[in-house]
Amino acid sequence: MINFEYARASDVADAVRQLAGNPAAKFVAGGTNLIDLMKMEVERPTKVIDINRLPLKQVEATAVGGLRVGALVRNTDLAYDPLIEQRYPVLASAIMAGASQQLRNMASTGGNLLQRTRCHYFYDTAMPCNKREPGSGCAAITGHNRMHAILGASEACIATHPSDMCVALAMLEAKVHVTGASGERVIAFADFHRLPGDTPQRDTNLDAGEIITAVELPPQGFATNYTYLKVRDRLSYAFALVSVAVGLELKGDTITQGRFALGGVAHKPWRDPNAEAALRGQPANATTFARAAQVLLKDARGYEHNAFKIDLARRCIVRALTQAARGMPQSQSSKKIM
Ligand SMILES: Cc1cc2nc3c(=O)[nH]c(=O)nc-3n(C[C@H](O)[C@H](O)[C@H](O)COP(=O)(O)OP(=O)(O)OC[C@H]3O[C@@H](n4cnc5c(N)ncnc54)[C@H](O)[C@@H]3O)c2cc1C
Ligand code: SF4
Repeated sequence: MINFEYARASDVADAVRQLAGNPAAKFVAGGTNLIDLMKMEVERPTKVIDINRLPLKQVEATAVGGLRVGALVRNTDLAYDPLIEQRYPVLASAIMAGASQQLRNMASTGGNLLQRTRCHYFYDTAMPCNKREPGSGCAAITGHNRMHAILGASEACIATHPSDMCVALAMLEAKVHVTGASGERVIAFADFHRLPGDTPQRDTNLDAGEIITAVELPPQGFATNYTYLKVRDRLSYAFALVSVAVGLELKGDTITQGRFALGGVAHKPWRDPNAEAALRGQPANATTFARAAQVLLKDARGYEHNAFKIDLARRCIVRALTQAARGMPQSQSSKKIM
């Protein structure tokens, strides 16, 4: 491991100040991603700023009827928070579908948003990777690309964002609160993560020198008709091949509002306003769900080893929407709809 300086931040202003003083520094929260990357010499910070003592560990009500989740709330604490379980069960489900109990005990809300891709070539410093070393090439495009993107990829990078929690946050239209040297700002979740384009080294629109302080949940939690469906190679401790977070509002059998976001398919949690418009005002049935899936996947492109994900995504969308419409967020109904 490469030597680095270790420091603790005493408050948010101190954290921002310390980061501004050293552009090669990194914050550490749970350390479940950063420390692995440092061991592999993919991340090489000269200074690690421990933010674990900052007062960002509360889940609090907001004036507009939502919740503000501090950036240091652990994934386990968030998933088991009674307000999250009651009002945002899709978020609790998504978190519990990720990693392992031990990892969720350490992983923080802010760190989860900023975890890096699980593309094998990104972790292998012997291989070309535009995300790790801009301009070096992308080993995945002609390599083993089973886990990679089918939507929104570029000639420079076909990686996916690996988070489960972020898929639910995208569907819920959360907001990300950040603080930097020039003050505080709020970023809509849809604008937080980026597509790779020709700058795949940038995962998000967080500016250098900014810290995430909180994630804000709006009042609408879709607590009745929701689901988080995750398909992966093992039943636990595996990243999504495809995942879907759904929230529906129904009047009788008619969908008055429908949202769905996909994980495991793109460089960011993937939503499509046209696919959601295809749900609005329609009967909650298999024909409607298949049409919405078709709209979302119309530009999907597979590579040598992952073309199967296009049909898998279609099936997952239909199944997840069906489960949500039936008010059965788990998979009991799957045999009837596949
Ligand atoms: C074996 C394994 C399996 C996993 N499986 C899954 C899975 O199935 N689904 C899933 O979603 N995740 C999975 N994870 C990922 C895990 O959820 C993330 O590693 C975790 O959420 C990162 O949070 P952390 O607090 O540990 O981040 P850290 O490792 O501490 O930090 C990650 C990055 O975020 C930055 N950072 C942290 N907090 C802040 C902040 N407040 N402001 C600005 N920058 C910040 C750090 O500088 C660093 O760059 C898995 C991880 C492992 C190791
Ligand atoms: S897909 Fe992206 S992260 Fe993976 S090798 Fe290519 S450039 Fe690197």
